Amino acid sequence: MNSPQSIPADQTFCVDGDKDGLVAAYRRLIGDHAVADLQAYGDRLAGRKIVHVNSTFAGGGVAEILQREVLLANALGISTEWYRIRGNADFFETTKGFHNALQGKVNVDAAGLIGRYRSFYANGARELNGELIAYLQHLSPRDIVVIHDPQPLHLINFLDTDGPVKLWRIHIDTTCPDRDTMAYVSSEAIRYDGIISTMKEYVTPHLNGLGNVYALAPSIDPFSEKNCDMDAGEVRRRVAAYGIEAGRDLLVQVSRLDPWKDPVGVIQVFEKVRQQGRDCQLALVFNSADDDPEGTAMETVVRERHRQSPYATDIHLVCGDDPWDVNAFQRYAAVVMQKSLREGFGLTVTEALFKEAMVVATEVGGITLQVKDGYSGFTAPACGVNGDARSMDGDDYENHIKGFADKVICALEAGEKRAVLGSRGRQAVIDKFLTTSKLKNLLDIVLACA
Ligand code: UDP
Repeated sequence: MNSPQSIPADQTFCVDGDKDGLVAAYRRLIGDHAVADLQAYGDRLAGRKIVHVNSTFAGGGVAEILQREVLLANALGISTEWYRIRGNADFFETTKGFHNALQGKVNVDAAGLIGRYRSFYANGARELNGELIAYLQHLSPRDIVVIHDPQPLHLINFLDTDGPVKLWRIHIDTTCPDRDTMAYVSSEAIRYDGIISTMKEYVTPHLNGLGNVYALAPSIDPFSEKNCDMDAGEVRRRVAAYGIEAGRDLLVQVSRLDPWKDPVGVIQVFEKVRQQGRDCQLALVFNSADDDPEGTAMETVVRERHRQSPYATDIHLVCGDDPWDVNAFQRYAAVVMQKSLREGFGLTVTEALFKEAMVVATEVGGITLQVKDGYSGFTAPACGVNGDARSMDGDDYENHIKGFADKVICALEAGEKRAVLGSRGRQAVIDKFLTTSKLKNLLDIVLACA
């Protein structure tokens, strides 16, 4: 059972891609010395492997990060594998419930969620994930398992204390979570050898001083299909294929259709901008993640709101499955919005900044690490979240929409400042949020815990 081949193919991430080409490209970007520095970790970790476990290979930021991190690590000679756990519909509804509760949804039936979660692990988990669990149990104590987010968190209970080094990486903003859900998650998390969060402040208040906590911001790969250079003609061709008119400003938000990304609020902001006499179009670029069951219901809400809009013909709902299309929209946009109500990090912001796009985003979670208002883009104040992120209304929300729309107009009218802000944004990403530097941070954490 101690062979990766024992794990079903649909649970195994296949590392393919031009590894030598990737290392050569990074060498040109960050220099020989930095690449050699990373390769040295391969020697320090010789004979050991890093094994990531999450619940999806596609959709959402975690999959996006891991696709590039795992490829790069292997290209540098650091043996790294990635598996996904299987779940059933009830399990993914439960874990999305966890996610929402951890992000601040109120009136959560925490006991019910925890009960269903534990019941999955007591009953169905082995049937669906038997080979993977056996594989993890047979890893050497020198190997390192990195478990991502709440879905596979409970796997700690299947692993011996003297088994592999165990790290839990949480990508969620848990600034004000549902207390009971967080208490349960924390009670499992502290059993790991280390806890990794985008910001330490997200988790430390919930751990009563227990647990080794490390900060690790996510990252982008400038050479991926999503982020690599694209010539202007190709950019125009791609957006035109979705009905975007040339010569008119385009506002874009790229996100899963999740209440916390506030897609309905994005339409409201767009309407407000139009009401103020500023001509523009809107593209909501969205896809779904296999472990997010809320997307379909949210899509119905968004399509209905789109139909009701007086500016419906200028609102485009675009499928964001193709990374080249996402790349093109982020490049073409006059403004890239990220109107999140909560945000663990916000890779879409990183991607847009890297492309020197003019970003307008809410001051929440990881976005505050990335965009400095008036310096590298524009930020709008967060609004009080009423707890379910669905029925936002009232004056507070109305002011928030207006404030965000004002910032969008500022960005549209930034004139020559656009280039300056754009290049600062890109430089900040190169300095702080590339896959190379984050891989190095991860390896330092691994070595500290191992
Ligand atoms: N994404 C995409 N197509 C879409 C919507 C999102 O490829 O239609 C990608 C996006 O480019 C980013 C990731 O999914 O790489 C989302 O990460 P983020 O941290 O912004 O949000 P999350 O979904 O993890 O909450």
